[in-house]
Amino acid sequence: MAVSTRKCPACGQWSNWSQNPDDKCEHCGSILDPQGLRARQLQEEEALRQKKNLNIALIEIYPYDSSLTRFGKRIVQGFQLTLMGIISFIIWVVTVLAG
Ligand SMILES: [Zn+2]
Repeated sequence: MAVSTRKCPACGQWSNWSQNPDDKCEHCGSILDPQGLRARQLQEEEALRQKKNLNIALIEIYPYDSSLTRFGKRIVQGFQLTLMGIISFIIWVVTVLAG
C-alpha cells in the first residue's frame, strides 16, 4: 500500500499516512482521517444490518403448498430458528465476555 503524508487535523503536523482511515498522528495520536473512519464504520454497520436481515428471512409457507411441502418447510423453519437461537446465544456470550 502506498505511503503518503497527511496533515493532522488536531495538531497541524504532517504524519506518514498509509491511507488507512484508522491511521493515527505520529505527534499527538489523533485519527488522521476522521471522516474516512466514520464512513467505514457506517459501511460496517450497514453490512451488519444486512446480515441480520438475512438471518430473519424465514422460508415462507403458502396455503396452496401441498402437505408434504409444508412439512418440509416446517423442518427448514425449525432449523432456521435453531440456528438463529445459537447465533443469538453466541453474540450474547461474546457481549458478556467483552463487557
Ligand atoms: Zn496530531
